[in-house]
Amino acid sequence: MMKLNPKRVWVPGPLIVGAGPSGLATAACLKEKGVPSLILEKEDCIASSWKLRTYERLRLHLPKQYCELPLMPFPPGFPTYPTKQQLISYLEAYAECFSIEPLFRMEVKCAEYDPSIGFWRVQANDLEFICRWLVVATGENTEPVVPEITGFSDFHGRVLHSSSYKTGDDFEGEKVLVVGCGNSGMEVCLDLCNNHAHASMVVRDKLHILPREMFGVSTFGLSMWMLKWFPMNFVDSLLLFFSWMTLGDTEKHGLLRPKVGPLQLKSTTGKTPVLDIGTLAKIKSGHIKVVPGINRFVENGVEFVNGKQEGFHSIILATGYRSNVPSWLKENEFFSEENGLPRVQFPNSWRGKNGLYATGFTKRGLLGASFDALRIAEDVARHWNVKTKHFPLEF
Ligand SMILES: Cc1cc2nc3c(=O)[nH]c(=O)nc-3n(C[C@H](O)[C@H](O)[C@H](O)COP(=O)(O)OP(=O)(O)OC[C@H]3O[C@@H](n4cnc5c(N)ncnc54)[C@H](O)[C@@H]3O)c2cc1C
Repeated sequence: MMKLNPKRVWVPGPLIVGAGPSGLATAACLKEKGVPSLILEKEDCIASSWKLRTYERLRLHLPKQYCELPLMPFPPGFPTYPTKQQLISYLEAYAECFSIEPLFRMEVKCAEYDPSIGFWRVQANDLEFICRWLVVATGENTEPVVPEITGFSDFHGRVLHSSSYKTGDDFEGEKVLVVGCGNSGMEVCLDLCNNHAHASMVVRDKLHILPREMFGVSTFGLSMWMLKWFPMNFVDSLLLFFSWMTLGDTEKHGLLRPKVGPLQLKSTTGKTPVLDIGTLAKIKSGHIKVVPGINRFVENGVEFVNGKQEGFHSIILATGYRSNVPSWLKENEFFSEENGLPRVQFPNSWRGKNGLYATGFTKRGLLGASFDALRIAEDVARHWNVKTKHFPLEF
């Protein structure tokens, strides 16, 4: 990195925005190809999503072999589903191994391609970074999504997004309403229940719930294996049959299944099936209540869409996240302004125009991020030459 004047910095290799797993993987793959890069990170640490915005009991949802970053496996002693702390320690060792040193507290507020010079201009704090390649690694899950519900200010209890939820200890003895029934909502309910809180879960939409493992094998791994041999709709039928054998009829407990199978739904809409780690048993035993959508908040609780009111001490919004790309990237050909994701889908979502790349936007978790990182490094390395390492223009 070379300073042109106190406010402008020339970055010889790619500039990567975000020091989560995707940004780190890309920097490591580039380094292996001999290409230097620079990461800008808005927080003061790597893997900030995992360190700052996740609950204590979180473990990887998928087996470890599907979550390793390129070039460095997990330590052999890690369990099949590493804990959040184990993942963080792995990512720290990863950054150290590849000597990745992001610039922290550098929030990118604007990035724009300047066709007059053929470079990207990237603003962070009071600096302007100039680079030939820009890698967007800010994540699909950056901004918490908070739904608009009437009467929000009328409610006297506590309301928080699941990104601020740490542990069920904080809710012991309380009646808690969890809004949302994805993997986070289900796990938060289970954690509340295990910590002697009384959890109810809002289920508005149909969803696929599958056991995390079938016959001692991870459902994810089994699906990937079956997809090599059979068409998707057949694999879906098998998954639903095995789930019915293991979990029983989920519809009896208010969890209606979509007509489209779990893998087909994932591939067409990106909607991930819930991998059950014990929540369903608590629903069956009546420890977790399934309730309908919310109509409005009232002073001591909520009114549901069926008109019934119920009191709650706390409400946890497990209502998901969205990408923040449209707020800072001045480009709308490759990235959609609407959802902040690449308009083209996996496996082509990693490369845009004019040296723009995206990593970690495949809806395929860490496996997808690793795929992107390897492709990006190969592509940049092809263009990387001695000339670009030197200062190319007079500013
Ligand atoms: C609860 C939960 C569990 C998950 N479990 C799994 C799992 O088991 N297996 C799996 O494969 N995937 C899992 N995922 C999905 C995904 O793999 C993770 O979210 C992963 O952290 C994504 O990595 P990322 O680097 O793309 O994004 P992030 O980890 O979100 O990192 C993005 C980084 O960019 C920074 N940033 C954002 N905007 C700016 C800006 N303007 N300027 C500078 N920096 C910025 C952020 O501070 C952050 O550090 C899970 C996700 C969640 C939410």
